[in-house]
Amino acid sequence: MRTVWPPATKIAAQRRILIAGNWKMNGLRADGVRLACNLAERARINDVACELLLCPPATLLSLVGAAIVGSGIQLGGQDCHPAAAGPFTGSISAEMLRDAGCTHVIIGHSERRSAYGESDADVQAKTAAAWRAGLTAIVCVGETREERVSGRTIEAIIRQVSRSVPDGATADNLVIAYEPVWAIGSGQLPKHGEIGEAHAAIAANIPPATRILYGGSVNARNALDILRITDVGGALVGSASLCADDFWAVAKTFPPPIH
Ligand code: PEP
Repeated sequence: MRTVWPPATKIAAQRRILIAGNWKMNGLRADGVRLACNLAERARINDVACELLLCPPATLLSLVGAAIVGSGIQLGGQDCHPAAAGPFTGSISAEMLRDAGCTHVIIGHSERRSAYGESDADVQAKTAAAWRAGLTAIVCVGETREERVSGRTIEAIIRQVSRSVPDGATADNLVIAYEPVWAIGSGQLPKHGEIGEAHAAIAANIPPATRILYGGSVNARNALDILRITDVGGALVGSASLCADDFWAVAKTFPPPIH
């Protein structure tokens, strides 16, 4: 994507905040159903100002999908294959995710980039597949600790955005998750000014009003301050999404008084 878009400020004011839970490879059937039912029950009886999305492992998609019916909570996958079908043992296509009830799919999470060697080109192909199946792609980008220390944070994330997002992005089919690799699961966070700087740089390179989530050690204690930062349109939550009370506490921080 080469287009440079006009600055998109106050994105969260234009669209609802999105709080997405990435369960990663966690949860047997009983755990997943218990967690999803608990959250669904809360969402049915409380007004939540944000959009909620659960991304369980593939084995739980149907069960979680059934548990959240009528709650307003949406369902997402954690990865997809670029092809619609074929001889790709162990893989899941975007069409299969859609068929299982998903509206979203996380693509290019740093754990997939590092553990499975996924390149920006892979992420771009998977994002195109997500769009082909009618899913919103949550494309993850983020600098490593080494890139941060050497002052290359913005360069690294803009390179990832420009190479990972195909032509045809809109505010409806794309969400970017800015997740500093070193902040994931570490309890460490960038300074608020650094998050704002990264989100503003990303916002200048994607269609206006596209949501940009912050991810990396978000919890109930730090969520409100993060979500108040300009151009932060939500959060991608890992560990804290595995506990109903913790995830609900993040969801409940809305609406922030001033954005
Ligand atoms: C993630 O891996 O997407 C993530 C944000 O994890 P955590 O919240 O545990 O840092």
